[in-house]
Amino acid sequence: MRKPIIGGNWKMNLGVPSEAVKMLNNLISLVRKIELVDVVIAPPFTVLESVIKVAKKSNIKIAAQNMYFKENGAFTGEISPNFLKKMGVEYVILGHSERRDIFYETDELINNKLIKALSMDIIPIVCIGEHLHQREEGKTKEIIAYQMENTFKNISKEDITKTIIAYEPIWAIGTGKTATPEQAEEIHSYIRSLLVSRFNEEVGNKVRIQYGGSVKPNNAEAIFSKDNIDGGLVGGASLEASSFYEIIRAAEKLK
Ligand code: PEP
Repeated sequence: MRKPIIGGNWKMNLGVPSEAVKMLNNLISLVRKIELVDVVIAPPFTVLESVIKVAKKSNIKIAAQNMYFKENGAFTGEISPNFLKKMGVEYVILGHSERRDIFYETDELINNKLIKALSMDIIPIVCIGEHLHQREEGKTKEIIAYQMENTFKNISKEDITKTIIAYEPIWAIGTGKTATPEQAEEIHSYIRSLLVSRFNEEVGNKVRIQYGGSVKPNNAEAIFSKDNIDGGLVGGASLEASSFYEIIRAAEKLK
């Protein structure tokens, strides 16, 4: 009953309009018939305008990779949600582990961004996940519970159902190490149980939870076949139209 969503996070790649548009045109021709899966790509800010123009005539939606929580002012280097909205951006990735680890983003900052995105009708894709040492110390659920509580502070029932959660174990991002489908499902079902106890069963069942961390064409189907996994957030394999398409197809085949 939840529609799977596959997101392609291009990170700091394909940031020149000609290369981004070339990739997007390849992808558009492949995904033309995809209906049962939401397809979103998150290109760098430098190509948003070109990509939005091309994606308009397709079933692909566009996400920003980040945003600030103020609409304008003296915030050198930041991107306003207002700019994004006016350009036609429909989704935003918040709290990616690279933002948390490299740029020191805190749960509090991510929470501010989340509240702002929701107030502007930009659909947030919020990333949470544990480091390898935390998993090895048996602290995964503790970390996830902490992030769920703090990143989603003061979020209403209505707003949480509009939000997409991406469970991304940090040790699996860009490393080629994927969580097994069982490891991923265990945490997805835990996240859902946290949503059920904080809100209610209906809300818990509505929220889409993506898995991210070295999703590739050869492991996508096994991961997406799990009950609580509603698609994926894909980094490396989203940079090439055919591999990203195979991942999208894996999700659609299961519907
Ligand atoms: C990501 O950046 O969110 C990600 C999951 O990357 P990769 O697929 O390359 O591990």
